Amino acid sequence: MLELANVRAGYGAINVLWDVSLQCAAGKLMTIVGPNGAGKTTLLRALMGLVPVSQGEIRLDGARIDGTPTWRMADAGIAMVPEGRMVFQAMTVEENLVMGAYARRHRPHVQERLAAAYAMFPRLAERRRQAAGSLSGGEAQMVALARALMADPRILVIDEPSLGLAPIVVAELFEVLARLKAEGRTIVLVEQNTAQAVAIADHVCLLQGGRVVLAQPAHEVRLEALHARYFGR
Ligand code: ATP
Repeated sequence: MLELANVRAGYGAINVLWDVSLQCAAGKLMTIVGPNGAGKTTLLRALMGLVPVSQGEIRLDGARIDGTPTWRMADAGIAMVPEGRMVFQAMTVEENLVMGAYARRHRPHVQERLAAAYAMFPRLAERRRQAAGSLSGGEAQMVALARALMADPRILVIDEPSLGLAPIVVAELFEVLARLKAEGRTIVLVEQNTAQAVAIADHVCLLQGGRVVLAQPAHEVRLEALHARYFGR
């Protein structure tokens, strides 16, 4: 279980998240939606220890993880796929993936994890020697996901993976997310594509002005009502 309890976080004097409380059970998918500037990325950064938590607690299986340095989060089995993918453009697909397993304890598993990544993303296997900078947006997103998977994380934190992708590629991406969930991974997903993101979610949270204005089991979410709140109608 991943929990945020009364979390405040921000950038220096600028507070962004206000008393955010959320829970995501192990193996479940939580979708976070909300307008631009709502604090979605900041929430993911706070989870990863990239932004300091000034109040409240973040707990994983009951143990506090706020205040943990980001590199230790990786040790705790949490991996982030950042917005904009952040692939190393000049490196090949395979070199990018290997970077995801740079920690010493992962090194003995590199070959088996590469095989698993290529099984999940056959297109990346075909392009393993190609420079990542020459990939399409969809392929680059697959590289970013596959790189995070190289550390075999229990929890995946994924920021706007569908950004800028064509609808057919978005559909492929959501199929991959469904498979990752079926593997038992816990997923915290920030998405603008609300219909698809709610469809694969277990929990849905609407963030607005740094506050949770709606937190519901996904099966209870009515998209029209969500959109009405989303757009402030
Ligand atoms: P988007 O959908 O546009 O990505 P978001 O919901 O992810 O938005 P955040 O990126 O978390 O929102 O931003 C929330 C607020 O924090 C915004 O007002 C933004 O200007 C501010 N902010 C983000 N990064 C920083 C930073 N490094 N320093 C100061 N303020 C920041």
